[in-house]
This record gives sequence, structure tokens and C-alpha cells, in this order.
Amino acid sequence: MPFGPMPAAVADLYDVIILGSGPAGLTAAIYTCRANLKTLCIAGITPGGQLMITTDVENYPGFPQGVKGPELMDLMRKQAERFGTVFVDDDASAVELASNPKKVWVGDAEYHGRSLILATGAKAKYLGLPNEERLQNKGVSACAVCDGFFFKDKPVVVVGGGDTAMEESSFLSSLCSSVTIVHRRDQFRASKIMQDRVLKNPKISVVWDTEVVDVLGDKKVEGVRLRNVKTGAVKDYPCSGLFLAIGHKPSTGMFQGKLPMNEAGYLLLEHRGHGTFTRIPGVFAAGDVHDWVYRQAVTAAGWGSMAALDAERWLQAQAAT
Ligand code: NAP
Repeated sequence: MPFGPMPAAVADLYDVIILGSGPAGLTAAIYTCRANLKTLCIAGITPGGQLMITTDVENYPGFPQGVKGPELMDLMRKQAERFGTVFVDDDASAVELASNPKKVWVGDAEYHGRSLILATGAKAKYLGLPNEERLQNKGVSACAVCDGFFFKDKPVVVVGGGDTAMEESSFLSSLCSSVTIVHRRDQFRASKIMQDRVLKNPKISVVWDTEVVDVLGDKKVEGVRLRNVKTGAVKDYPCSGLFLAIGHKPSTGMFQGKLPMNEAGYLLLEHRGHGTFTRIPGVFAAGDVHDWVYRQAVTAAGWGSMAALDAERWLQAQAAT
């Protein structure tokens, strides 16, 4: 044990408990284990994070031919296991962040950690349409940077009116033959500068006051069914891809009232852009749980390594006092 003997009364005291097993959580685990810190990863009931529902990942460095999302997560997990990470493949049910040690419950099982890394990620919101899930990875996507390339020179539809929809549309316009933004109101909520960029782009058009009510296609997306919310008129609109940009939901419900968050529920770090410290000493955050801007597998992995280094240094400082 690098930081003193384990108290006899506590069965499971870890140096670091990591919540989440996406790229942020698993990278953190690789780093903390290699620093000889006893590490537990509460991986979640569906381990692996958002990449588990992604087919081809072509922008993660080191895979010149691309890699399947689940395969990438499997490799990361094996790497974390190789250095001794203990995994619990279930969701944490409760946490006590301010106590020392920090406590995490998984059902009736209680785990204690000298430090915590919160890497519970975020989930893209979907419309909840009957065929949307069936055609996920077959034309339905919630990440233009990840999947846009598969729609090179093809027409796509983007749903949403916020900054993400503007950003994704601009990005897609450089690849796709056309981009149609379908928005449920008659104005965007996106920042003016991003709206202007989109509205001036000759490859992007907007269908206002309209909802996507179904996704069409058998084996892949062939179009969407649109309904004008003012007139009720319904029409089918051909496209090869449907990009949802209606927001993400960070998995932070368990930390409500314990840590500061923004309106959307993302954790707020102490020194944004510098370090992974939360307001509570010994509790660190990594990846999409606090980063609503970049949201890439590679940036999440980067945050994971940063959180591990911050935790290691913090534990060393505690041991020295
Ligand atoms: P957002 O601002 O919450 O916008 C979501 C958009 O989706 C809204 O236009 C909303 O319509 C629409 N929407 C929500 N649910 C819908 C549904 N069920 N059906 C149809 N449309 C639906 O989310 P976001 O664009 O992801 O942005 C999140 C945060 O990240 C914001 O603070 C944003 O400024 C920030 N962000 C910043 C940047 C940047 O600065 N580069 C880039 C991306 C995001 P209504 O408008 O009608 O509600």
C-alpha cells in the first residue's frame, strides 16, 4: 500500500475509486494502477460508455484502419485489468463525497476510497422515435465529428437549434452534398455568431417549425418523415443520414446537491481548463461529465489521465501531511 496500512475495520479501502468505464474512466485506471494506487472502477451496468454504441471509430489515434467502438473499449479495459484495476460491472447507487474516506455504494456493497474520479460521462439525447434506435449506426447518429465522414457527398438532416446543431451542421457541410436543419421552432437558440455562419452557408438550408416524426429506411436511413407543428402537414424528406443535436444529458444525478453544476447538469470544475479538481478535496472529474465542449473519446481519455495525475499528487500531499 503506497499510502499507509489499510484500517482493519474497513474491508475495501482503495486509493482511488473511479466511477465510469468510458475512455476517461479506463484511462484514469491505467494511470492510477501504473502509479501503484489500489484502484476500483465501478464500470456501470452497461460498461464502456458511448463508444459501445458506436460502430466505426476512425479518429482515435493509433488505429490507421479505424476500430470498432466496442473493440476499442475492450482493449482499454484489458489494459486497465493488466495493471490490476478491480472492476465492478454495476451502477453505483449512492456516493458520499465529502467524508474521509469517500464512500460509494453499489446496492448493499459499500466501497471506501481515499480519492474519487468521477467519469460517468454523458448521453446524447434522442427523439425516442420507433425507428430511430433500429437505424442507429445505420444512418442515425448523434456525433457529426465521429460519423460525418460516412456521409461524404450525401444529403443529411440535422435536428436541433442550439450551438451543437450549428456546429455539427457547419462541420457536415464541408463533407456532405447538402445539410438540412430541421428545427421545431421559428428561431434558433444558438449564439448569434454561430447562427449567422450557418444561415450564410449555401450548403445548409433550414426547415422551421418542423419536427422529425419518423426515420425511414429498411437497412439504412433513406429519409425522414417531417411534420409542420403549425399546419400539421406531413411529408417525407429523403436523406442518407440523420444527426441528432438536441443536447446531451450528463450522468450527474447522483452528485446533485453535492457538487456545483451548470444549468444542463454538467459538473463545474474548480479551475476550468486547468486541472480536474472539483470543489471537494480528493474528488476529481474527467471527461464528458464536465466537458460539454469537446466530447471526443480522445479528449475524454486525456481528461482521464489528467484526473489520475491530479489524484496521485493529491494523495501524495495527504500522505506527507
Ligand atoms: P441546447 O442548447 O440545449 O439546444 C438543444 C436544441 O435542441 C434546442 O434548439 C432545442 O429546441 C432542440 N431540442 C431539444 N429537444 C428536442 C426535441 N425533443 N425535439 C426537437 N428539438 C429538440 O443543446 P446544445 O446545442 O447541445 O448545447 C448545449 C450547451 O453546450 C449550450 O450551453 C451550448 O452553448 C454549449 N455549446 C457550445 C459550443 C461552442 O461554444 N462551440 C458548441 C456546442 C455546444 P428549442 O430551442 O425549441 O428548445
